Amino acid sequence: MFHWRAQIRPGVSVAFTDANAGNLALHVGDDPGEVGRRRGELERTIGATPQGLRFMNQVHGTAVAVMDVGSPVPEADAMVSRGVPLAVMVADCIPVVLAGESPDGPVLAAVHAGRPGLAAGVIPAALGSMADLGAAGIRAWVGPSICGKCYEVPAGLQDEVAAVVPATRTTTSWGTPGLDLPAGARSQLEQAGVSVEYSGPCTLETPSLFSYRRNKDTGRFAGLVWCHD
Ligand SMILES: [Zn+2]
Repeated sequence: MFHWRAQIRPGVSVAFTDANAGNLALHVGDDPGEVGRRRGELERTIGATPQGLRFMNQVHGTAVAVMDVGSPVPEADAMVSRGVPLAVMVADCIPVVLAGESPDGPVLAAVHAGRPGLAAGVIPAALGSMADLGAAGIRAWVGPSICGKCYEVPAGLQDEVAAVVPATRTTTSWGTPGLDLPAGARSQLEQAGVSVEYSGPCTLETPSLFSYRRNKDTGRFAGLVWCHD
């Protein structure tokens, strides 16, 4: 069910699911009942209350939603909370989960960073919202996503993204212009003083993970961060 999972401090864990957890997204033409059943199984496994795991309608923007128990599903690409379990869905985009400490307890975040969101600054936007909640000592876990050796883009698009996030400029394994989105995410996090505790492998090269570039009809796996007993 999990590609990777760790307790990062007493009472706080992060994880990235794999294809064995099944598709967790409602927007890819899958049976909503089946998706709900899989989400429920995931919640039971991690010890979250039913419907406690918060998902978002991801739109490749920079909106950050502050989530509480009972918050409706937001249209956003980042969520922050004071412990409410958060989930970000991906299949080649980067799932970034973060945790920091405030005087009132842990502050969590889950971020969907694809090419447009990364370039538009969704990661710094999420860090800003965490700071607004009083978070310090923020750490990040950068989940599996398509790597720069596999992600070919037109030269003009490479220039456009690299102009705002220089660390993304790369060359694919077959010698064409590419974008290294994980390197870009890491550069933004490190510039903000956030330590990167984990970097996941390439989705396209890892059969146990969903990859949109490998299969357009694919499901979505998830990055999770949650508080527990
Ligand atoms: Zn790759």
